[in-house]
Amino acid sequence: MKKREIGILLLLCLVLTGCAGAPAEPATEPPVTEVIATEPPPTEPITVYEGAIEDYLGEITDFSWEQEYPPEYVMIHFCSAVVNHFDDPYNYDYVRQTFTDAEVSIHYLVDRDGQIFCFIPEDRSAWHAGYGTWLDDEKYTNKMNKYSIGIELMGMGTYEEMSGYLHKWQYKKIPQEDLGFTDAQYEALADLVADICRRHEIPLDRDHIIGHDEFSPKKRDPGELFDWSRIIPGLE
Ligand SMILES: [Zn+2]
Repeated sequence: MKKREIGILLLLCLVLTGCAGAPAEPATEPPVTEVIATEPPPTEPITVYEGAIEDYLGEITDFSWEQEYPPEYVMIHFCSAVVNHFDDPYNYDYVRQTFTDAEVSIHYLVDRDGQIFCFIPEDRSAWHAGYGTWLDDEKYTNKMNKYSIGIELMGMGTYEEMSGYLHKWQYKKIPQEDLGFTDAQYEALADLVADICRRHEIPLDRDHIIGHDEFSPKKRDPGELFDWSRIIPGLE
């Protein structure tokens, strides 16, 4: 998949966010010395995938905050709009609305075609992990938002996993192809996870790429239908 530098995207993003109702920038350019003084030190180019779109949920400060610690984990979720839009559960606008309605957020959303949307930049913490525990370590108790990059896959799990949201007769009406995850999603997710791990020096293994259901006892995603071996090398 074609890659491009995030620097360009970030620059674009800054321009775009600056356009969103913000007062116009002064027309005169700042002195060159000032530009040099504020320029960040050169870093290794960061790549994102062509499908990644800067699509921040409302104001970036909504449902996210400036990251306090470097991310140590990647957390995988699934989501859909099936509760309010049973006949169109993977409609992008409906799915996106579920985040703002619930006042939560996520760094990335991968749709059924494998297109990746960025809702919250990686230098901010998203509200996706909620309450839970990890490794019996107090550091992570109810605080995994601070230590993880969150990725939502548009998808639905088994009836048991969905029973908190749907009656059985409803679940039975869901087309088979809408359950679980698509090949395109696995391919995009594998690329995205590998890229995140490389940039943040997170080991690409099952100790560091974890499910929401492994952290939070009340959560069932990504669930039994998710095939970890398709995103983590070396798993059976
Ligand atoms: Zn989740």
